[in-house]
Amino acid sequence: MLVVKVGGSAGIDYDALCNDVATLWKSGERLVLVHGGSDETNRVAEALGHPPRFVTSPSGYTSRYTDRRTLEIFEMVYCGVANKGLVERLQGRGINALGLSGLDGRLLQGKRKAAIRIVENGRQKILRDDWTGTVEQVNTELLQTLLAGEYLPVIAPLACSEHGEALNVDGDRAAAAIAIALKASKLLLLSNVPGLLQDFPNVDSLITRIPASDVESYLQYAEGRMKKKVLGASEAISQGVGEVILGDARAAGCVSHALEGQGTVIA
Ligand code: ADP
Repeated sequence: MLVVKVGGSAGIDYDALCNDVATLWKSGERLVLVHGGSDETNRVAEALGHPPRFVTSPSGYTSRYTDRRTLEIFEMVYCGVANKGLVERLQGRGINALGLSGLDGRLLQGKRKAAIRIVENGRQKILRDDWTGTVEQVNTELLQTLLAGEYLPVIAPLACSEHGEALNVDGDRAAAAIAIALKASKLLLLSNVPGLLQDFPNVDSLITRIPASDVESYLQYAEGRMKKKVLGASEAISQGVGEVILGDARAAGCVSHALEGQGTVIA
């Protein structure tokens, strides 16, 4: 069992990714695909006159401030063009992909952070009307049912709160939660960088191996949204996923290259 998360930043080659995913699936590998959509969400938000706002928590994590309108735009892109773009590519390659978000069927149950603490210009502030959250539970039975029916699940990272609210959740950590729930042997977190760079953005500074016992100490090298990937990797590794690979999704063969150990391998 494999969980593949493909990012939504600029430069990702979704056709190449789907070629690889289709080949793997046809060879009998069972997998779940989780996706991003951040770049497209920024573009649509700008076009709709509600530009994105990124905020940083006191512990240094960056996230998209998700007021109600942003949540709607997030849904338009993630549940719309991003999810259906992947489903269509896979359908075109003969795979019966089925797209859904974590909200659907309570696939991902989460906890809302209605108020978030942020740091702005060196000062702490509380922001309300935020619709982000963290995944607390995965509906493993639903995923197993889909997989048993030969459907390839393509999942947009939203969650359903205990009150039935839609939440924007981090895609890397959602993929980690799914990998843990499915007892996946590998989790691939593919993005537009070769892996975790010790000296970002110098691509010659790729960290090729991280021992499972020491993932958190590598958080110091990650900036911005890369921190969530390392955090997700750490959560997955500490809860039974055999290997996490941070790899590049910008070229042909990206999934097979990551499986062969290209990128940052955490084990
Ligand atoms: P995606 O949406 O594809 O999942 P993100 O944009 O969330 O990807 O995260 C990947 C980004 O993290 C890279 O494009 C890069 O700008 C940034 N980054 C920050 N620090 C590092 C680092 N040490 N190594 C690699 N990338 C990093």
